[in-house]
Amino acid sequence: MNIILLGPPGAGKGTQAKILQERYHIGQIATGDMLRAEVKAGSELGKVAKAIMEAGELVPDDLIITMLRHRLAQPDCQHGFILDGFPRTVPQAEALDAMLASQKQDLRAVILLKVDEDVLVDRIAGRFSCAKCGASYHDVMHPTIKAGICDKCGATEFVHRPDDNPTTVKQRFTAYNNQTAPIVPYYQGKHIYYEVDGMADMNDVTAAIEAALRKAGVAAPSAAAAD
Ligand code: AMP
Repeated sequence: MNIILLGPPGAGKGTQAKILQERYHIGQIATGDMLRAEVKAGSELGKVAKAIMEAGELVPDDLIITMLRHRLAQPDCQHGFILDGFPRTVPQAEALDAMLASQKQDLRAVILLKVDEDVLVDRIAGRFSCAKCGASYHDVMHPTIKAGICDKCGATEFVHRPDDNPTTVKQRFTAYNNQTAPIVPYYQGKHIYYEVDGMADMNDVTAAIEAALRKAGVAAPSAAAAD
C-alpha cells in the first residue's frame, strides 16, 4: 500500500510518517531528509539543494523526481511506502502517478493534516532531533523522556534544522501555499483523499490517520504485522 501525507511545514508529517512506518512495516520516504543527507554528504545534488533549502524554496522538480525514482526502486519500498514531503507540486504528483502506473501500482490514500498556520511557527520553533539516530522531538509536545537523552538510542546530542528559523519558515509557508496547496484538488478528484485534524494530540492524530486508512481499505496494524 502506498500512502501520501500532505500538510504545511510543521504539520507533523514526519512524526506521523515514522509512527506509521513502524506500525505498517512500509518504507518511509521523506524527501527533505534525503536532501539533508545529500547536503551533508556534499554531493552535486546536495550542493544545488543547500542554498534553495536555506532560502525556504523548492528544489526543482526534475532533480526531486529523479531522486525519488531511485528511492522507490529500493527493496524497502517494494511492499509499499509512506511519502512525507513529496509531492510538493502538481508536476511531482503527475510524475508519481506515472511512476506507479509503470510498476502497476497505485496510491491507496492521500491524507492531509489540517492545521492552523498561526500555531505552526511555534511548533517549528520547538522541534529538534537526535544527532545520531534522527528521532524527532519537540520541546513541549514531544520531549525526550529523560532530559537531554534520546529515547531511542541514548545519544545526548541533538540538532535543530537550519531552515527552522523565522525568515525561512515564512518563505516555506509561501512555497506551500503557492506551489503545494494546489495539489489538494488534484487528489480530491481521485477519491483517495482524506483530511485529518493535525492540531490534535499526537496519539489522536495517529488514531485519526489509522481510521482514514481503514476507510481506504488498509488492514489494521496488528493484521498488517501478522502478514
Ligand atoms: P521538509 O523536510 O519536507 O520540510 O523539506 C525541507 C526542504 O527541502 C524544503 O523546504 C525544500 O526546500 C526541500 N524539499 C523537500 N522535499 C521537496 C520536494 N518534494 N520538492 C521540492 N523541494 C523539496
